[in-house]
Amino acid sequence: MPVVSLSDVRKVYGGDTVALDGVSFDVDQGEFVVVLGPSGAGKSTLLRVLNGLTTPTTGEVTINGHPPGAGSDVGMVFQMHYLIESMSAYRNALTGALSRAGWLRSLLTAYRTADKEAALRALDTVGLLEESEQRAGSMSGGQKQRVGIARALVQDPELLLADEPVSSLDPKAARDVMGYMKRAAEERDLTTVASLHQVNIAREFGDRFIGIRGGQVMFDGSREELSMDVVDDLYYGKDTAGAYADDEQTVDAAAPSGGAAE
Ligand code: ADP
Repeated sequence: MPVVSLSDVRKVYGGDTVALDGVSFDVDQGEFVVVLGPSGAGKSTLLRVLNGLTTPTTGEVTINGHPPGAGSDVGMVFQMHYLIESMSAYRNALTGALSRAGWLRSLLTAYRTADKEAALRALDTVGLLEESEQRAGSMSGGQKQRVGIARALVQDPELLLADEPVSSLDPKAARDVMGYMKRAAEERDLTTVASLHQVNIAREFGDRFIGIRGGQVMFDGSREELSMDVVDDLYYGKDTAGAYADDEQTVDAAAPSGGAAE
């Protein structure tokens, strides 16, 4: 059974904004999938549908055979890390255990030994064990995102979702963070779906790429199949490739043409 299954998912906001339009695909255990597409393509909506924050208008979504809910089976890494800046990296990672704990324990913040061990193990996975007592507010943007990944890992999720997790970081920090996310997924055989707008970074870390545009899946394939023509088509449409010099996304989307030909 696939971990993620979407069947003909359609999401319409406010009666006339079609964000997802007949999206169907499965993701198997341990796959590391990157969702690509221009702004407004439907990437965030897709991730929200997967974590149960948004209900599809029609169609079916299942995570390990069950409808996605607010339960602990899906861990989420956000574009903004949403850490508690005054708390240590360790305490922030530990809050990932709250979603499993229920509201009473959340109130009492009585963490079990197993939760504490999970927090330290997760910080180790993202290379921050030595910094575990450092206040989140004093960390770099990349370190904060790594704490955000650790917090999601502490939930022991069946599926890890990441919505533009490195969009606010410089390229080096972005690569670092993606490297740790990939390592975490491999170590734990964790199925991962991440949306990224930096195509060059996506190519480095993704195993499988799903390109969406106008709410529809335009591409679903491997790194080898993700050619520059496919990227141009995805971001600019078939007839406009090469005619986007003034487009803001040129830097991100065009970057692979120089270095990523494999
Ligand atoms: P992406 O993440 O690829 O930028 P989104 O999923 O955010 O795309 O948006 C897809 C489309 O749905 C866009 O047209 C966007 O304006 C619209 N949209 C997204 N969220 C909402 C919302 N809460 N209410 C109304 N329209 C929305």
